[in-house]
Amino acid sequence: MTPDLMESGARARAAYDTRIAALTQGGGFGRPVADGEVVFTQGVALYLDAVTVSFDGFKALNALSLTIDVGELRCIIGPNGAGKTTMMDCITGKTRPDSGTISFGSNIDLLRLKEPQIAGIGIGRKFQKPTVYEPLTVWQNLELSLKADRGVAASLFHRLSGEQRDRLEELLVLIHLKDEAPRTAGLLSHGQKQWLEIGMLLAQDPKLLLLDEPVAGMTDEETERTAELFLTLEGRHSLVVVEHDMSFVAALTEGRKKVTVLHEGSVLAEGLLAEVQANEKVVEVYLGR
Ligand code: ADP
Ligand code: MG
Repeated sequence: MTPDLMESGARARAAYDTRIAALTQGGGFGRPVADGEVVFTQGVALYLDAVTVSFDGFKALNALSLTIDVGELRCIIGPNGAGKTTMMDCITGKTRPDSGTISFGSNIDLLRLKEPQIAGIGIGRKFQKPTVYEPLTVWQNLELSLKADRGVAASLFHRLSGEQRDRLEELLVLIHLKDEAPRTAGLLSHGQKQWLEIGMLLAQDPKLLLLDEPVAGMTDEETERTAELFLTLEGRHSLVVVEHDMSFVAALTEGRKKVTVLHEGSVLAEGLLAEVQANEKVVEVYLGR
């Protein structure tokens, strides 16, 4: 717990609530207020401690503890049912843990925030299935995300500033969709839809990105390009990537980054990919099957 949150009494609590309310109004692009308020100076982007979640008595997360550094790219692997998606649900406020601590930066207690507030302070999430607006063009999809604080109709009639156009052009190059900008999103390949959705998240400049099985269903070439994209994002954002594709994980870790193995709701092993692949417990529950 941070000193901020340990202050007791109603006054501290009220001050905290006011700050969060100020932080989370709107929440679209060009709102430096959120950046200014979450404190990342201690190098920690995300901190989970002893997080437990039960569904009808079954512990989907069992005292899960994990720390992600600012700018870190962390891969999380583990068998089906290990609790990987539930962990993301807890971070994003979709599921409330029974107990434990989840904080963002060194000062924001995520368990006190609601789902839209958590998105508004800089945590973006990519679900397994792409959720783009199929009838709109690639460009319009990105445009909507840049102006997420307006309604859909208002956004489409609101003109982008020169700076925002530059930002969209930059994003299109980054997600390999520059030539597809005028195309209807519904006509994109599965992999391209995934990239578009990642672009839509990036348009809101999240500090932390949670990506749940981002290359499932992608071709080998799309998978390689996605690895390149994530490596480009590393450093500027913190990324938590849940994935089963070991060659993808190997590309992301570059032989030097730590991976975390989840099993039965807690961390079974953590270390270099080669180390966890050689770990007997990991082989037994996951890799050896
Ligand atoms: P993973 O993403 O690692 O495959 P999940 O987090 O989806 O695992 O699931 C962890 C466990 O929790 C599984 O046994 C799953 O059936 C259970 N679970 C997840 N969500 C719910 C829910 N809403 N209600 C009941 N059980 C759930
Ligand atoms: Mg899952």
